[in-house]
Amino acid sequence: MAPAKSETLLQINDLDVTFEQSRGDLQIETAHALRGIDLTLGRGEVHSLVGESGSGKTITSTCVIGLLPMPPGKINHGQLLFKGRDLLKLSEAERRKVRGREIAMIFQEPAKYLNPALKVGEQITEMVILHLGMDKIKAGERALDLLEVVGLERSKRILKSYAHELSGGMKQRVMIAMAISCNPLLLIADEPTTALDVTLQLQILKLILKLKNQLSMSVLFISHDLGVVYNISDRISVIYAGKIVESGSREDVFSKPLHPYTRLLFLSIPEAGKGGSRLRAIPGSVPDAEHIPSGCAFHPRCPIAEDICRTEIPRSRNNGQGGAHHTAACHLIGKKWPD
Ligand code: SF4
Repeated sequence: MAPAKSETLLQINDLDVTFEQSRGDLQIETAHALRGIDLTLGRGEVHSLVGESGSGKTITSTCVIGLLPMPPGKINHGQLLFKGRDLLKLSEAERRKVRGREIAMIFQEPAKYLNPALKVGEQITEMVILHLGMDKIKAGERALDLLEVVGLERSKRILKSYAHELSGGMKQRVMIAMAISCNPLLLIADEPTTALDVTLQLQILKLILKLKNQLSMSVLFISHDLGVVYNISDRISVIYAGKIVESGSREDVFSKPLHPYTRLLFLSIPEAGKGGSRLRAIPGSVPDAEHIPSGCAFHPRCPIAEDICRTEIPRSRNNGQGGAHHTAACHLIGKKWPD
């Protein structure tokens, strides 16, 4: 039976990450990549983390999977509670057991993830032998079953292929097969459809949803595109300059976005433009993590900013304008939008 949706699987509390880089003149520059991320993912849920490049999406997922390079990265404070246990307090050996077995990840470019020197069958069987303790024969059978599960032919020929011999869509499916090979509780999908054409994109999204339901997984879905996450998400969090600026159910975020950044993200995608209204590019760009603006980090790009925005960091809140669990970090929620 599928677990109750309300049960929390992953809870990120106040996660704060910096990177220190030497500039060569004996000066150390600190980049504040994550500035107190809070995010909750229920069992069986898809929670999408959306934002532009450089906003901190991938650093967040890298922390959850336990692959943040330290140094130069440093987790200053925070918690990553997975099934109630803080992943940040585990030893590297304990993290390795969780990674792949209970938390798995798929990436934008499978070619970077798949080992070019090993046949794909060897890569899948290696996972199940390591994490599930299967012998070689059973692991081979499991690998064939997994090909079928991800919509590929149940074929030894595919297992004997190297990654470069497969098409882009097949590589993506093989990577997904590896990720789900040990029935993980949490699948992190980091922009898994960005490099694909629209038809393939839809197929992979449908596959992820189907597998989520079949395997009762939770999914942390990373994307820069609100249009892509609409069909897959239960909950959406919008991230900007290392901070969650809005979070709510898909319905709440789509029907009544509270934060100006979310509203501009909507206006920048064709699907959300109402009745062919003109699309608007978001002015400016995400600030460098070394130079986060004072006050609300979005103020240099915000069309409704006021003086308070330049000096005071807004706290995440619900001012009664959204659903009960719909929050935004903005001083001026509800302020009239300029024409
Ligand atoms: Fe815009 Fe001010 Fe809200 Fe930031 S706090 S999003 S600058 S209105």
